[in-house]
Amino acid sequence: MSIYTNAIKYFGVFNQFLKTAEECAELQKELIKAALKDCTEELSPQEINNICEELADLEIMISQLRTLNGFAKKIDAIKKLKLKRLKGLINA
Ligand SMILES: [Mg+2]
Repeated sequence: MSIYTNAIKYFGVFNQFLKTAEECAELQKELIKAALKDCTEELSPQEINNICEELADLEIMISQLRTLNGFAKKIDAIKKLKLKRLKGLINA
């Protein structure tokens, strides 16, 4: 079993749903803080670190949720459709 499967087992599915939502909120906060800066300013190393840390947290949570029965297959199928739509949009 992977660390992701073990984490879901240890903490429970609904706690990990909640934790994923919490990590989404933390990433939102860092992205909004960065986006609200004057666009001529570059991001500081600390701001880049904060965003990357929250992206890492969220990726870990998403990897856990992907281990749930049927999730990975469904996520990948939806991603395929959405990436096709995105490709059409940016090639237009
Ligand atoms: Mg976090």
